Amino acid sequence: MSELQGQVALVTGGSRGIGLAIGRALADAGATVALAARDGERAAAAAATLPGEGHRGYAVDVASSESCDALVKQVEAELGSLDVLVNNAGVTRDNVLMRLKDEDWAAVLDTNLRGAFALIRAASRGMMKRRHGRIVNITSVVGLTGNKGQANYAASKAGLVGLTKAVAKELASRNVLVNAVAPGYIETDMTADLPAAAREALQAQIALGRLGRPEDIAPVVRFLAGPGASYITGQVLVVDGGMVM
Ligand code: NDP
Repeated sequence: MSELQGQVALVTGGSRGIGLAIGRALADAGATVALAARDGERAAAAAATLPGEGHRGYAVDVASSESCDALVKQVEAELGSLDVLVNNAGVTRDNVLMRLKDEDWAAVLDTNLRGAFALIRAASRGMMKRRHGRIVNITSVVGLTGNKGQANYAASKAGLVGLTKAVAKELASRNVLVNAVAPGYIETDMTADLPAAAREALQAQIALGRLGRPEDIAPVVRFLAGPGASYITGQVLVVDGGMVM
């Protein structure tokens, strides 16, 4: 089923990991997909691997509002519209509280939270005019539960939950729906350094007994972007193999 045929989707952090899997799922659904990351060449190479035609890669630093504004303008001009925005770009700079520097706090909050705000602000203008839009923010179970050594990351992801709900209320009358997906532990570059013992301990907490894959997250985003989710807004869907219930 090509339920997103004729629609344009923008996925930040789309050059690899969860973002690339989301881009692939949206392309499978018929959307024309813009993948954006700081490394624009890698994003373009990733876009070339998606099924179908017309997909493109873009360079953006979501920690810069100017860069976010320029990206939305460019996507709308080059791809003709912007119907689905997936705020997936994210970083970690983990440390225990006493060693967490101001710049670690700023880098994580600017990328994970302010970036999403800037892109929603830029993208919602056209979505409101067109009376149609879907926004999906990739938060984390850590934003709901907290995690030792991740005060900055957990705060950014909890902030995304509040942002999702506030904006969902604000944009609902224009048929722009805003939801969040909260993955558990997913095998990507971000979690590649997890020591074997920590990985085993984690697995023991997951009801399904395994870490997740990007392909476990992507279909959920596709669903939230599609017609089956037309009466869902302001929600956080946890996709973690039953780790947090
Ligand atoms: P990866 O580290 O594998 O990929 C991160 C992506 O974000 C890359 O495409 C990277 O490209 C891009 N990116 C990073 N910083 C910026 C920036 N300032 N501007 C634009 N793009 C940027 O991460 P994952 O795929 O694991 O994670 C994707 C999202 O899912 C993140 O928001 C993460 O917090 C969240 N998540 C991940 C979990 C996991 O276990 N992996 C669990 C829960 C949530 P480039 O470096 O070229 O900019």
